[in-house]
Amino acid sequence: MKKHIPFAIAYDFDGTLAPGNMQERDFIPAIGMNKKRFWDEVKNDSKKHEADNILIYMHLMLKKAEAQSVQVRKKDFEEFGKDLPFFEGVLPYEDKFKKQKGWFDRINEYGKHSNVAVDHFIISSGIREMVTGTKISKKFKAIFASSFCYDHHGVAKWPALALNYTSKTQFLFRINKGCLNVYEHKDINRYVPDKDRAVPFKNIIYIGDGETDIPCFRLVKDRGGNSVAVYKPHTPKAKTKSEEMFNDGRVNFIAPADFRDGTLLDRIVKSLIDKIQHDAEIYSLAKQLHR
Ligand SMILES: [Mg+2]
Repeated sequence: MKKHIPFAIAYDFDGTLAPGNMQERDFIPAIGMNKKRFWDEVKNDSKKHEADNILIYMHLMLKKAEAQSVQVRKKDFEEFGKDLPFFEGVLPYEDKFKKQKGWFDRINEYGKHSNVAVDHFIISSGIREMVTGTKISKKFKAIFASSFCYDHHGVAKWPALALNYTSKTQFLFRINKGCLNVYEHKDINRYVPDKDRAVPFKNIIYIGDGETDIPCFRLVKDRGGNSVAVYKPHTPKAKTKSEEMFNDGRVNFIAPADFRDGTLLDRIVKSLIDKIQHDAEIYSLAKQLHR
C-alpha cells in the first residue's frame, strides 16, 4: 500500500473560521462591558505597561470576571465557546441538491481519494478553552491558542500560553517538525533536514484573515507552502485588506471565508491537494528511472 502524503491546514480562528472575536459574543457582555470598551482598555493598558496586548487582554478578562463574579474555570470558557457561530460551510449544511458535510470532513474525504492525509490545526491568539468548547473542536489534530493555568479550585489564574503574531509562527514549526507538545523545547529546536520533517512546508496551507497572520502567511509562502487570506463574505470593503496583502506578495491567494462545496476557497484547497499528489507521483516516477 502506498504511504499517505502528509498535508496540514492551519487556521487562524477569529475572522477566519468564525466572524468577530470569540470573546465578544458572550464573555465580554457577561463581564459587564461592550467590545469597544474592552478593546480600548486593552490598548490603553498595553501602552501604559509597555506590554504585549495578548497578555493584557488575558489579564483584563480575569480582572473583570473577578469584579463581576463571573466564573472562569475551564468548563466556563468552554461554555462561552459553545454557541460561537461559524462562516457558511464550516458546519454541515443543506444546499438545494443535498445535505452536505462540514468543511473538515469534506476536505478529509477529498484528500483520502488522492492518498493525501489531511490534518487540521488551529493557531489562534484567542482562548484555547473557548475553541475546545465549539462544535468543531474534535476536527483538529491540535489547537494552539492562548490559554490559562488553573489553580487547585480549577480557576484560571495566569496565562499558560499567549500567542501573538510572531509567536504564532512557532506552531507552524511544531506542525512542520511533528513536535506538537507545546511544553517540549528540545526536539523543536533540534536540527532536522527538511526531507525528514513530519509535514514539509510545501504541504502546509495557512488560512488567516488579518494583520496578526502576516508572519505566518510569509513564513509558509516563503518556504514553498501556500497562504490564503480570507475576508468576510458579502461585506463591502472587507476584501481591501486581503487584496493589499496579495499585492504586497504576502499571500498566494485571497478568497471569501465561505467554506461551502464549490466555492473559491474550496477549489483552491482541493487544487493544492491535487498538486501535492501529482508532485509526489512525479517524484516517484523520476526515482524509478534511476533504479
Ligand atoms: Mg483573525
